[in-house]
Amino acid sequence: MNAVLSNHDLKKLDDAHHLHPFTDFKELSAQGGSRLITRGEGCWIEDDSGNRILDAMAGLWCVNVGYGRKELAEAGYRQMLDLSFYNTFFKTTTGPAALLSAKLAEITPAGFNKVFFANSGSEANDTIVRMVRHYWNLKGKPSKKTFISRTHGYHGTTMASTSLGGMSVMHGQGDLPLPGFVHVMPPYPFDLANGMEPEAFGRLAARMVEEKILELGAENVAAFIGEPIQGAGGVIIPPDSYWPEINRICREHDILLIADEVICGFGRLGHWFGSQRFGIEADFMTLAKGITSGYVPLSAVMVGDRVAETLIEEGGEFYHGFTYSGHPVACAVALANIAVIESENLVERTRTDIGPYLRAKLEEALDGHPIVGEIRSEGLIGAIEIVKDRKTRERFPGGGKVGLMARDHCFRNNVILRGIRDSLVFSPPLTLSHGEADEIARLAKLSLDQTARDLGVL
Ligand code: PMP
Repeated sequence: MNAVLSNHDLKKLDDAHHLHPFTDFKELSAQGGSRLITRGEGCWIEDDSGNRILDAMAGLWCVNVGYGRKELAEAGYRQMLDLSFYNTFFKTTTGPAALLSAKLAEITPAGFNKVFFANSGSEANDTIVRMVRHYWNLKGKPSKKTFISRTHGYHGTTMASTSLGGMSVMHGQGDLPLPGFVHVMPPYPFDLANGMEPEAFGRLAARMVEEKILELGAENVAAFIGEPIQGAGGVIIPPDSYWPEINRICREHDILLIADEVICGFGRLGHWFGSQRFGIEADFMTLAKGITSGYVPLSAVMVGDRVAETLIEEGGEFYHGFTYSGHPVACAVALANIAVIESENLVERTRTDIGPYLRAKLEEALDGHPIVGEIRSEGLIGAIEIVKDRKTRERFPGGGKVGLMARDHCFRNNVILRGIRDSLVFSPPLTLSHGEADEIARLAKLSLDQTARDLGVL
């Protein structure tokens, strides 16, 4: 079909029939529909006008090994010819599903030896909600049902994962969260510390979780879920004091701890998992995105030993699973993807080389910039806070629209960064070269200069 239709025709078809996620349908159509992306290679994508665009977001925080890797394509192709699909429900498995289970047990922190497969981060988090509820019933503590998470947390878009998330605009559509999902303050020093020293603020933010547990009664609380670094909520990096305190609180009050590693996993923070960077002692980990670098959909729930033992020994049949749980093609691609991350040393490279390099280049380019309040990053994920006053951190009026203005300038300058409230965030492929990092810094400065001019600052 692509061979006979022009790009213009494809865009018209898309505009006529395709409802896009997280999109104002009417507005997109009024603007003439979507930009058509036609190719991807390394850290670059191309659109139908022939623009080469530097993708400093790795798609949706997922293309960790970069676009167009033959190793991954060939793994999928070979698996489709050998066995395109078989299920894992009826006492059957496939080679790739078995191998990937073992590989995940090997690379995840000690104490994770069991995995349950799904297709998306949302499904994986839904799976965890069901497992946690089942677990506490088995433990004879059926009142432990409430989940605690954070404002600006993002855990997906199904009913349960939207409820786990702390996005008020999402809750506003459709009377969410569901009962039994509550939210507390995020460890977001730039916005909330109010001059408090970061480590003290980290402990304070963690104690908000403890206060919520005491308010609800620990006998009613099932689990706490958090992203090691909150991604879609604005790349909120907690002070180092935060997670150890969360470990203590969950242990003392007998609350299960879930680390949503959908963005932070597979090297993004310069460690295989964010849990390792922050010392999180989780009972569950949610994996998706970087597990296949986005080449095909796949997600996984890592189940810690103590929960797994109860579910296995006492649980009987677990009435849950997806047609494509452990899909052999997805698992084969995941194995090839993990092999690339290992053989190219991408985790260590992110921690010791390209992560610090990109940060230094951004700091150099944006040093003293009139609307930049903070640049923060960890490995290859970060945020640039946009403010009206660098000293007082006063924001521009409009309640969080400036990030989108800056984002639009980035788009026009052929670099993709994302606007979240009044910040620009980035999360490029882990294969980013030094030259590409220089380019991100140059284009980010150009775009922020243009934004400042729009705002009457420059
Ligand atoms: N958890 C986190 C931390 C995420 O960032 C996302 C997606 N951005 C999800 C869960 C949901 O994943 P999916 O979109 O694959 O359902």
